[in-house]
Amino acid sequence: MLRINDYIIKNESTFRIGGAVQEVFFPESIDELLVLLKQKNYDIVLGNCSNVLFSSQKINKTIILTKKINNFTFDGNKLYVSCGVRGPIISNECLKRNLTGFEFLIGFPGSFGGMIAMNASAHGQSISDTFIKAEIYNVDKKKVQIFTKSDMNFSYRNSIIKDKNFIVLNAEFELKNGEFDKIKDIMDRNKSFRTQNQPGLTYGNAGSIFKNPINDSAGRLLDLCELKGCKSGGAMVFEKHANIIINYNNATSLDVIQLMHKMYSKVKEKYTIELEPEIIYVGSDKTENMLWKEMKK
Ligand SMILES: Cc1cc2nc3c(=O)[nH]c(=O)nc-3n(C[C@H](O)[C@H](O)[C@H](O)COP(=O)(O)OP(=O)(O)OC[C@H]3O[C@@H](n4cnc5c(N)ncnc54)[C@H](O)[C@@H]3O)c2cc1C
Repeated sequence: MLRINDYIIKNESTFRIGGAVQEVFFPESIDELLVLLKQKNYDIVLGNCSNVLFSSQKINKTIILTKKINNFTFDGNKLYVSCGVRGPIISNECLKRNLTGFEFLIGFPGSFGGMIAMNASAHGQSISDTFIKAEIYNVDKKKVQIFTKSDMNFSYRNSIIKDKNFIVLNAEFELKNGEFDKIKDIMDRNKSFRTQNQPGLTYGNAGSIFKNPINDSAGRLLDLCELKGCKSGGAMVFEKHANIIINYNNATSLDVIQLMHKMYSKVKEKYTIELEPEIIYVGSDKTENMLWKEMKK
């Protein structure tokens, strides 16, 4: 298994930001991942790093990245998938098999581990819709457990995985039978919506920066605060979507956090609503941690 010290993490993240991480592991199978989880004193398990802001400064942490764990199989309309597999791959595989339920996954680069933890959703579909069960490593009890849908406490951008010390290993989903042309049409519409309204991966970004407050949209509130195009160093609020920050010119993590802090403060001042970051911050820098904590009260 690949293990790298002082690994520059920038190119692993969709934000394309990040400094040297003390120690990074790349397990290539669930067995290798389990060995690490049982034996290693690690700080965090990540998938495709599409919802993460890494610090540009030295990161004194041990990180496990699951992106090399890539197994999946179909049995009729059942899917068995390992945590490291990326959504768009499965969206296309479902199309080949005339299976509906994962058309939304064509639009963004999350791994199944990350998407289950976050209960990823878009275009009226979510991970929880087709989820049957998952094999989870319980870090505190040091054992593998099976969690069914009712164990998962899925809600908007949340699940029991995010709240507790659980690691997703494998999962099972049940898709519905559909028609090729209809499935393809939905996927094409999802793709074209993204091309028209979002940066895709043309610029580094991590999708939506803040969660939507209850019964409202973070993008709407940020737009009303006239934040589109607002800059901090090499980071900028995307011109077409006020809840996305793009790395348009070698942004640092501090550029992004300062811009987020400005967005957060403007909405708080104007609407007395405190937006909560949807992305996670991984770093050891004091100033960044201080600004981050002010937004995570
Ligand atoms: C261009 C773009 C568009 C996006 N659009 C959307 C969208 O429409 N809808 C949406 O929901 N998200 C969207 N996102 C955000 C992101 O893709 C999702 O949140 C996705 O679920 C993150 O998956 P990941 O593998 O990259 O997770 P990471 O960023 O690697 O990790 C995210 C969280 O999941 C946890 N995690 C990862 N793997 C595991 C595991 N095996 N076990 C337990 N916890 C784990 C991590 O610890 C972390 O807390 C977008 C991102 C980008 C870049």
